[in-house]
Amino acid sequence: MHPFTYHQATDAADATRALGAPAAVPLGGGTDLLVAMKEDIARPTTLVDLRRLPGARDIVLHDDGSARIGCAVRMADLATHAGVLERYASLAQAAASVGTPQLRAMGTIGGNLAQRPRCWYFRGGLPCFKNGSADCLAERGENHYHALFTPGPCHAVHPSDPLAALTVLEATVEVTGAAGTRTLTLDALFAGAARNASGETTLGADEFISAVLVPATAMGGNQFYEKLMQRGAWDFATVSLAAHRRIDGGVRIALGGVSLGPCRVNSSIEEDAATGGLDDDSIDALAERAMYDARPLEHNGYKVWQAQALLRRALRRLDPT
Ligand SMILES: Cc1cc2nc3c(=O)[nH]c(=O)nc-3n(C[C@H](O)[C@H](O)[C@H](O)COP(=O)(O)OP(=O)(O)OC[C@H]3O[C@@H](n4cnc5c(N)ncnc54)[C@H](O)[C@@H]3O)c2cc1C
Repeated sequence: MHPFTYHQATDAADATRALGAPAAVPLGGGTDLLVAMKEDIARPTTLVDLRRLPGARDIVLHDDGSARIGCAVRMADLATHAGVLERYASLAQAAASVGTPQLRAMGTIGGNLAQRPRCWYFRGGLPCFKNGSADCLAERGENHYHALFTPGPCHAVHPSDPLAALTVLEATVEVTGAAGTRTLTLDALFAGAARNASGETTLGADEFISAVLVPATAMGGNQFYEKLMQRGAWDFATVSLAAHRRIDGGVRIALGGVSLGPCRVNSSIEEDAATGGLDDDSIDALAERAMYDARPLEHNGYKVWQAQALLRRALRRLDPT
């Protein structure tokens, strides 16, 4: 591991100042970053610990149904917080499905969204696109866990469970940097992730995710998260699905494990799900249509079947009739 210094940020200005140093990076629970440093795929010179920033560990529930989740709120907090369970069940379920109890006790929501892909070529330090080469080695290699939807060159998927839940809840992220604070949609945060050789987010070098903002429309309704894994526990999703029938009747459905960022299904499928009254044939047809644009590689075609199975189940659970 390369030598580094540790800086515990006291407030947002201190954090952005520290992140302005060359090769300084934010530190959450360190569960991904320290492993990446040991694997020598991350070589920061300064770790800027965000966990003591004012409000970073707070989940603030607003009366209108919205919420502000500080960047250092841990997976275990999200999974067990009474207000999150009651209002945003899909997010609590997604957080509860992350890794192991130890990881959930350390991993933060900011770090979970900004964690690096789990592709074995990348993690193994091989000359892949994310390690500075021109090509994705998974494209014609061992691509069992890779993406169904990607513009390339990279075919890795985003490993986060909460990302799919936050996508259907239409959450945004508050980003803080030297120039101030801005709000990004999840699509904007991960724009161009597969073409970005140095990371997956659009954050500037001195910026960090200071909070996740959950809108009022995310509260209640019928929402859930389901995750398929190769092993029964302690694993990343091969495919996952988050769904939300909102109180206003609108439906949102997103898949995880199939792309390097948020992956909402086609809005026409969400509209049919919102109308409901679907018989088995219509449900089969919608599940097939949702995966029409999937482009499986040699070894990950099973993910299309998994996604369709999750979609069929979700369309039945979402049906209001
Ligand atoms: C064995 C194992 C199994 C796992 N299984 C799952 C799983 O099933 N589902 C799942 O979702 N995740 C899983 N994870 C990932 C785990 O949840 C992440 O390691 C964790 O969420 C990262 O959070 P952290 O706070 O420890 O981030 P860190 O390790 O501190 O940081 C991760 C990355 O994010 C950056 N970062 C940290 N905080 C911020 C911030 N606020 N703003 C911007 N960038 C930031 C860091 O610079 C670093 O690049 C697993 C990890 C391991 C090691």
